[in-house]
Amino acid sequence: MAATETPLQGETIETIYEKGAPGRRAFVAPELDVPQVDGLLPDELRRAEGPRLPELSEPEIVRHYVRLSKRNFDLDSGFYPLGSCTMKHNPRLHERVAALPGHARLHPFQHPKRAQGALELMWNLERALGEISGLPHVSLQPSAGSHGELAGVLLAKAYHADRGETRTKVLTPDTAHGTNPATVTMAGLEVVKVGTNADGGVDLDDLRAKAGEDVACLMLTNPNTLGVFDANIEEIARIVHDVGAVLYYDGANLNAIMGITRPGDMGFDIVHFNLHKSFTQPHGGGGPGSGPIAVSERMEPYLMNPRIVRDDDGSFDLRDVSEKSIGRLRGFQGNYGCFVRSYAYIRSLGAEGLKDASVSAVLNANYLLARLGDVAEHLPLAYGRLCMHEFVLSGAPMKRELGIKTLDLAKRLLDHGYHPPTVYFPLLVDEALLIEPTETETRETLDGFADAIKTILAEAAEDPEIARTAPHTTPVRRLDEAGAAKRPVIRQPM
Ligand SMILES: *Cc1c(COP(=O)(O)O)cnc(C)c1O
Repeated sequence: MAATETPLQGETIETIYEKGAPGRRAFVAPELDVPQVDGLLPDELRRAEGPRLPELSEPEIVRHYVRLSKRNFDLDSGFYPLGSCTMKHNPRLHERVAALPGHARLHPFQHPKRAQGALELMWNLERALGEISGLPHVSLQPSAGSHGELAGVLLAKAYHADRGETRTKVLTPDTAHGTNPATVTMAGLEVVKVGTNADGGVDLDDLRAKAGEDVACLMLTNPNTLGVFDANIEEIARIVHDVGAVLYYDGANLNAIMGITRPGDMGFDIVHFNLHKSFTQPHGGGGPGSGPIAVSERMEPYLMNPRIVRDDDGSFDLRDVSEKSIGRLRGFQGNYGCFVRSYAYIRSLGAEGLKDASVSAVLNANYLLARLGDVAEHLPLAYGRLCMHEFVLSGAPMKRELGIKTLDLAKRLLDHGYHPPTVYFPLLVDEALLIEPTETETRETLDGFADAIKTILAEAAEDPEIARTAPHTTPVRRLDEAGAAKRPVIRQPM
């Protein structure tokens, strides 16, 4: 089947299954030099026929993926201010160290005695994350931020169960990332939304009204997804702790606070990190991620097993250390390559460098916000006056007065060579545009982006149809995004 159903401009692209020919190979495995073993797999688990895999030569494979990559938009081809996702540059040094054979070729079943260097790196990374968050006990197991959230909520549940209490509710502000309520539901608990006040922080009266003895925890991110730091955090912590509940910090984006303040010092009991956001990793395409959690003393007994331990002779081991542990959350220890990259980031920057990254991320966001002050009439800041590492504009006046929606603006930005910011999130802002430039961008890049937005708005004042039908210069025109999510096209031949 030819790839003709998508609105491609120019040539069509074949899938990898449509290329090649039967029997064609890019690699020939050497002759077996050990005895062949048969009958290890039970018959009922064996395939009757081999799977139909693509059969291509090496140049065909290389060209296929290079062509696809050229048609894609990624962080290495341009500015990618995707709010809440922290698309910061991943220094090439990290790739070099992650590719060292001692790291890249380490087998997951390697005995701990012969993986001492890897365990030491992980142990050091745990200590660093503990210090950055102010919560000393760390598990690197979770594979994503949302996986870390699940670990954290299960820990909160185990904590209450251990005290003989059944608590069924979890409070999440209405600014929360979508994974927060999803996690709560997956953990078998009930989501209770807490409102937002006029400053963009938690509505304290609403919180007081909903914080009862049936609440297991509050999940909060601070600064939140509006880019607002909630100055009432100590009061929030008091309200939550007074009813015996646990305070959970969604630390997916630590970019505004690293080296400046710490979740542990704000009164939080549990935090998850997104190593693939704050601590550099190529991400966004579904690649391996890492969502470690750090917890306070009272949460430690429930932390996942096994833990990395350092024995008196200085050697490292993996052991189950607590009977109250929620157990294991995944096979093996997590995505090790992510640990290497993030450890390289932390060690190469040092404490001062991490702080500098945060300061620069906040400065860049405020600089861009100020530059966009010129178009505030059509794209006003939703909350506050200044921002932390990201900010939310509302496209409602633009839609009303210029006749283009936030989605149109986002699509037209692609024609200017910029990846669009996050759109239509957080939900409580009408026509939201969530922009996070990160610390790794130059002033010229930020100026160019602000100019592109101004140009698009001026163009829309003349002819809104151009933005409404954008993008015009990309390999693929405007897609049916809901359809793409609801009706995936699977082309692997059965
Ligand atoms: C990205 C993000 C998450 C979820 O992290 P994943 O690794 O995508 O599962 C949770 N909370 C916030 C605020 C985020 O930005």
